[in-house]
Amino acid sequence: MRLVIVGSVAFDAIETPFGKTDKIIGGAGSYIALAASYFTDSLGLISVVGGDFPEEYIQLLKNRKINTDGIEIRKNEKSFFWSGKYHEDMNTRDTLITELNVLENFEPKIPSAYQGADFLMLGNLSPEVQLKVLEGLEKRPKIIALDTMNFWINGSPENLHKIIKKTDILIINDEEARMLANENSLVKAASIILKKGPKYLVVKKGEHGALLFGEGKIFSAPALPLETVFDPTGAGDSFAGGMIGYLTQKNSFSFELMKTAVIAGSVMASFDVEKFGTEKLTELNEKRIHERFDNFISLSQFNKL
Ligand code: AMP
Repeated sequence: MRLVIVGSVAFDAIETPFGKTDKIIGGAGSYIALAASYFTDSLGLISVVGGDFPEEYIQLLKNRKINTDGIEIRKNEKSFFWSGKYHEDMNTRDTLITELNVLENFEPKIPSAYQGADFLMLGNLSPEVQLKVLEGLEKRPKIIALDTMNFWINGSPENLHKIIKKTDILIINDEEARMLANENSLVKAASIILKKGPKYLVVKKGEHGALLFGEGKIFSAPALPLETVFDPTGAGDSFAGGMIGYLTQKNSFSFELMKTAVIAGSVMASFDVEKFGTEKLTELNEKRIHERFDNFISLSQFNKL
């Protein structure tokens, strides 16, 4: 296994101005793994679901060649359930329901086939769980990428700092970066955060693209201006999945590669929002991904003065 991903596999119920879904497959882990699966077929997912989780949803992941041996099924418990409602502008949402259920006492189990992985993506979960995964790996992966959120920045700062220290790439949004650094200027916030351990910091700015910081350099990636955004759920996770999937494929790590990885993330996020839930991430192919890469290149290429 080259890439190991840890993250929630869940039921989501989503409401946007375009419509409403019942419980469909969601979870940060699902989005990350599906997005990454277009760049590598050597990837495994560590998570936990309840006995209520349909086999067809696990099959949907398997169809993308994602190894699901790391998804524990707790027969007598219920799966994690999240429900959100987007506002008219599609940039902000209210979380309506968060039922942790199986996630409450999640003890990540690492299948032996996952040992030795060079790439690790720690999706947004408690820093305690993220640390446990790291401790459970016999060999430190070459690249460790981490996602987190304001809930953990405020609620679990000590363990969060422990895991950030061990991380190579931190992927967070602008609000989280400001909160983590206690600094409003993103550029200043980035240098404060980079002193905490990571080699690179990626700051997601939603429909305004993303910034990459590291090695004293900054790279700015646009977001694709889309006519219609149907459902932004999982955009951040698809971004992370595209990035880490691309780095796994290249099996390397440098500022130049990170720039392309950020575009790979932006490409996958731009696809994700075009349909409800994970649907779009199950129907892509290499040709469409390459075409969208080209869109990103032409969107931001210009001549010298
Ligand atoms: P995003 O839109 O990138 O913030 O990710 C949304 C996904 O995160 C949904 O599919 C949810 O199931 C999942 N999610 C929401 N809250 C949590 C949480 N507290 N822990 C783990 N996953 C979560």
